Amino acid sequence: MGSKFDFLSIDKKLEERKKTNNFRKLVCVDSRIDNLITIDGSQYINFSSNDYLGLSTHPKIKEFWQQGLDLWGAGSGASPLVTGFSKAHKNLQDTICEWLGFSSVILFNSGFAANQAIVKAINNKNTSIYADRLSHASLQEASLLSGARLNRFHHNDVQSLSRLIKPQTGLIITEGVFSMDGDEAPLVEIKKIADETCNIFLVDDAHGIGVHGHKGKGTLAKQNMKCTDVDIFMSTFGKAIGTMGAFVAGSNEFIEYMINFSREYIYSTHMPPSVAYVTQKTIEMIQSDSSFQEKLKFNVDYFKKQLLKLGFPESNSTTSIQPIVLGSSEKAILYSELLREHGCYVGAIRPPTVPQNTARLRITITANHTLAQIDQLIEGLENCLIKIIE
Ligand SMILES: *Cc1c(COP(=O)(O)O)cnc(C)c1O
Repeated sequence: MGSKFDFLSIDKKLEERKKTNNFRKLVCVDSRIDNLITIDGSQYINFSSNDYLGLSTHPKIKEFWQQGLDLWGAGSGASPLVTGFSKAHKNLQDTICEWLGFSSVILFNSGFAANQAIVKAINNKNTSIYADRLSHASLQEASLLSGARLNRFHHNDVQSLSRLIKPQTGLIITEGVFSMDGDEAPLVEIKKIADETCNIFLVDDAHGIGVHGHKGKGTLAKQNMKCTDVDIFMSTFGKAIGTMGAFVAGSNEFIEYMINFSREYIYSTHMPPSVAYVTQKTIEMIQSDSSFQEKLKFNVDYFKKQLLKLGFPESNSTTSIQPIVLGSSEKAILYSELLREHGCYVGAIRPPTVPQNTARLRITITANHTLAQIDQLIEGLENCLIKIIE
């Protein structure tokens, strides 16, 4: 008799991943000081984090988290509808509503869970979903699980969406900023289609919040839109905001509906109140101190200018996310290894995270990089060009 897992063909699936250079394994960071990480005894400048504003290690943020712990203890102890919802959570919700203008907000432990909750709360086998092809895995996964008819439109292609969409059938999904490309969705045009066809419009702004717009309000603000231009908005705290968790915003009625019907919300221990506390303080800091956003923009502009000098094609991204699409997984891995030898940690992003033949370096420039660190990365990339002859 073989193993109980035999019917899954696990060995074959893993072998296939190895053969195509798409096998993944965990890398353990031994220590982390600001944007420096140590792995297996070597120190690298981290160009692979989503900590866009450099807040996750900021002394003030660490202090706020400790304050939150002293006030509220570690865990929330219960799901939100039992006793897990506290004044710390309420204050965070109120701060977000005031910041972005939404009438109602609820909190989740992760963006993945929040997206599952939204998509499943709205859809069933009688509805349709229209999602940008490059939407995050959490949205695509939820779409499949919901039983709805999933229609994927070409990336940022409004015409492709128009061709697919039918009136009053369901949900349009896109992102403010796309996670692997850093480009923005044409939100104004998509909103128009949503209104004309009377479909619900959801924007996931995981990579836009804190980075784009006045006071870090995100991609809607950057594109001169009001919060009421979308029906549902979600974003996460684990990226620019530097903590963890996520929120879903919308009308009072929609949020009441989620509180009553979303199983991801109802049957899950609520976010630790200390996390809610530090997240609220961080959002207040982002609003009152624009220097993080300004430093990020300065660094990104500098990096893009230097990269162009090396002859790499210019990306469509004005955010931290600066992809260099290389094509094959082998090449992406080789670049990433050479950069590591040069003291720079840059992840090679491969299928199935990105479409076939678009393996890439996903470089993230953050507000706490120094120009000398960015120069070191540029030198590393120059070195790759010299060493890798196609
Ligand atoms: C990271 C991300 C999520 C998931 O958020 P987590 O809080 O990390 O679970 C959802 N959507 C997008 C677009 C993301 O990039």
